[in-house]
Amino acid sequence: MAYLDHAATTPLRPEALAAMLPFLTEHFGNPSGAHAVSRRAKQALEEAREEVAAALGCAPGEVVFTGGGTEADNLALAGVVGRRGGRPVCSAVEHHAVLHATEALGGTVVGVDERGVVDLDALGAALGPEVSVVSVMLANNEVGTVQPLAQVAEVVRRCAPGAALHTDAVQAFAWMDVAGAAADADLVAVSAHKFGGPKGVGALVVRGGRKLAPLVHGGGQEQERRSGTHNVAGIVGMAAAMTAAVAGRETTNLRVGALRDRLADGLLAAVPGAVETGDRAVKIPGNCHLRFPGAESEALLFLLDEAGLCASAGSACASGAMEPSHVLAAMGVPRQEALCGIRLSLGPTTTDDDVDLALRVVPELVARLRRG
Ligand code: PLP
Repeated sequence: MAYLDHAATTPLRPEALAAMLPFLTEHFGNPSGAHAVSRRAKQALEEAREEVAAALGCAPGEVVFTGGGTEADNLALAGVVGRRGGRPVCSAVEHHAVLHATEALGGTVVGVDERGVVDLDALGAALGPEVSVVSVMLANNEVGTVQPLAQVAEVVRRCAPGAALHTDAVQAFAWMDVAGAAADADLVAVSAHKFGGPKGVGALVVRGGRKLAPLVHGGGQEQERRSGTHNVAGIVGMAAAMTAAVAGRETTNLRVGALRDRLADGLLAAVPGAVETGDRAVKIPGNCHLRFPGAESEALLFLLDEAGLCASAGSACASGAMEPSHVLAAMGVPRQEALCGIRLSLGPTTTDDDVDLALRVVPELVARLRRG
C-alpha cells in the first residue's frame, strides 16, 4: 500500500510515541495540582513548552496549547474579535477552520492569483480601521502554495496598523522554518498530527502579551487563554515530533522534493492532458496536485484505494452534488476541471516504491475512467 495523504495526517513519529508513553502510564498527574505527581507532569509540560517555543521562534509564555489546528485558528480570530471588536479578513484559499470562522465573525475574503498566492492589492483595499485581524496561511493544504507572509505583513502594517496578523502554519511546519517565515505574524497556529505528532493537540503562538478573549472558559489554564486539563502526553509528543521534524527538515525536503518531482513529472508525461495545479516554485516539497480532465476525482480515488493507493481531493459532497474545492475555484480552475483534481501528498516516510506504485496505477486508472 502507498500512503500519499500526508497533508490529511501523518503517522506518529517513534520519537513522539516514546516521549508520550511515560505520561500515559506512570506520570499521569494533572499539571495544575501541587503534589509530587502533579509536579512531575507540570515539569514535563513546561519543558515541552520551551521546546515548542524554540521550534516556533517565540518565548515559552507566548505558547498556548490547544486541542489542534482548528481550535488554534478559531482562538486567533474569535479571540481578537471577542476582545477588541472589529472584523477579520482572510484569503480565499484558507482552510475551513479560518474561512468559516471569518464568515461567522462577519469578515471578508480576499482573492488569489492562478498560483493560489494572495492578491496583495486586493488585500490592501480590503483593510481599514475596522479590521482587527488578518489571516493568511503560510502553506496551503490542498495545492501547497506558500504565501509571501513578509509582504502580507507589510500591507497589514500599512493599511490596518492596529490589526493583528494571524498565520495558519499547520501545513507549513513540516517543511518550513516557521520561526523565520512567520516571524512577522502576531499569531501562529500549528497542529501536531501534520508533522508526526498525535492528533487533537496543537498550539497558538500569541506574541507580545496580546490579549485574546478565550473560546473555552473554565479553570484558567494557559494564562486564562485556554481552560481545560492539559493533554500532557499529547503536548509532550508534539514537542518531540517538532524537534525531530526540525532536525530532519533539510534532508527530508531534498529527498521528498525529488520524489515529488519524479511523481509529478512522471504523471504529467504519462497521462495525456494532465495539468499540474499551482507553481512548483512556490510550493512545499510534499505537495503534488494534478488534474486529469475527463476522470472525476471521486471515481479515481475509489479505484486508487482499491489499487492500494491512499490519496485525496479537496472536493466535498455537499447535499448530494459534488462541489469543487473552494481553493481551486479561487485559483480560477473551471468547475468541471476542478472536479478532476487529486492531491498526492508525500511525507518523511514516503519511499520510491510509493511513487512507483502511483506511476503504475494512476495512468491506467485515468485511462479506464476516460473510456467510461
Ligand atoms: N489548517 C490547515 C491548513 C489544515 O490543513 C488543517 C488540517 O487539515 C487544519 C488547519 C486543522 O487542523 P486540525 O486537524 O488539527 O484541527
